[in-house]
Amino acid sequence: MRLSQVFTKTRKDTPADETAKNAQLLIQAGYIHKEMAGAYDYLPLGIKVLENIKQIVREEMNIISGQELIMTGIQKREIWEKTGRWDDKSVDVWFKSNLKDGTDVGFGWSHEEPIVEMMKQHISSYKDLPANVYQFQTKLRNELRAKSGIMRGREFVMKDMYSCSVDEAQHELFYQATIDAYKKVYERLGLGADTYVTFASGGAFTEFSHEFQTVCEAGEDVIYLHKEKNIAVNEEVLDDTNLAKLGIKREELEKVKSAEVGNIFNFGTHKSEQMDFAFTNEAGERQFVYLGSYGIGITRVMGVIAEKFSDDKGLVWPENVAPAKVYLAALGNIPSVISAADDLYNNLIKAGVTVLYDDRDIRAGEKFGDADLMGIPYRIVISPKTVEAGKHELKARTNDETKLLSSVEILKTLAE
Ligand code: ATP
Ligand code: MG
Repeated sequence: MRLSQVFTKTRKDTPADETAKNAQLLIQAGYIHKEMAGAYDYLPLGIKVLENIKQIVREEMNIISGQELIMTGIQKREIWEKTGRWDDKSVDVWFKSNLKDGTDVGFGWSHEEPIVEMMKQHISSYKDLPANVYQFQTKLRNELRAKSGIMRGREFVMKDMYSCSVDEAQHELFYQATIDAYKKVYERLGLGADTYVTFASGGAFTEFSHEFQTVCEAGEDVIYLHKEKNIAVNEEVLDDTNLAKLGIKREELEKVKSAEVGNIFNFGTHKSEQMDFAFTNEAGERQFVYLGSYGIGITRVMGVIAEKFSDDKGLVWPENVAPAKVYLAALGNIPSVISAADDLYNNLIKAGVTVLYDDRDIRAGEKFGDADLMGIPYRIVISPKTVEAGKHELKARTNDETKLLSSVEILKTLAE
């Protein structure tokens, strides 16, 4: 990517109408644009980050036998009435509208009911199970408050996965596999050390559900950490009875603010009974499908990473999610510099290294400022001085130390 060809511009001023740090930084660095509270556009650099996050999630969901699909965002009233969740009193975030002929439709805030209805067409025998499906979908929610930037959108991207099993034992296997897969996801996203499997309220079927909570000052949740046992309890279920069940004591816990980056739910057969989702078991009897639901807030994760990995100069992306690994700054509009930079750019790309090539005719200070603000993990500078030395200057975003390296050394360092 050559920055001379990227239409987005960075800006020095903090956007006045935005209070959340994640959105301020992402707007300033040209990753997103704010349309209104809770509604953001994702620009070319922002999409790269989102796609990197999605790809990590996709790989881990595929490993545990998830099958990817995409559901429509337009939903039928009748499906949600089966479970009593069409009513605004039971779901307070619905966006709804009407077709031209007057038919009621809702815009997907979740896909649990439509997924069950769709799966009914395909699952009829125990031989069809287990079946686990997931999607990356844009959810619409009329959230009461949206002050946390992209961490709480009225439109946001979620990975939602649903498991269909014959019984509790089969369900439990997948549920555990998902917990492990989620741990790998947050690890790869750079959030592993600060993300806790958290006991939260359970809903209709189980005592607890599990949330994945990342310690974060800007988060909207409060959890109680047990660092030694590596678990946490959401304040909503913090009482003596529950703590005793989990074998932990109140005084061993540390209270912190956190952001829910994912959650997993066991529905049991509750929803399949409501929606008549059944299969024929080995004995030829009709039996209800055992269901689970598993979310990850993709855009919220991007916001949390922006919050946690930033400093006074701007964003500091972990390598796995950064829009590019290297920011290549050519300083001075002279042929020897341009040709050295072009050569290195091509060689890095050939070696599979992603590069933002700052080939714009602007001051060095501006290039350095943008490299920092955009948060690209490595910066390479090519100037008349480095050309003369026959080397290039390499610096990590998290480090002030620069190194002079030859092309061969740089390629060796960056292309693992
Ligand atoms: P919250 O308590 O934060 O409102 P939720 O319980 O409504 O979350 P789910 O409906 O289970 O969340 O959605 C699954 C995941 O989607 C959440 O764990 C979270 O990461 C993300 N998410 C939920 N609401 C939003 C939102 N408004 N904006 C961005 N991400 C969201
Ligand atoms: Mg919510």
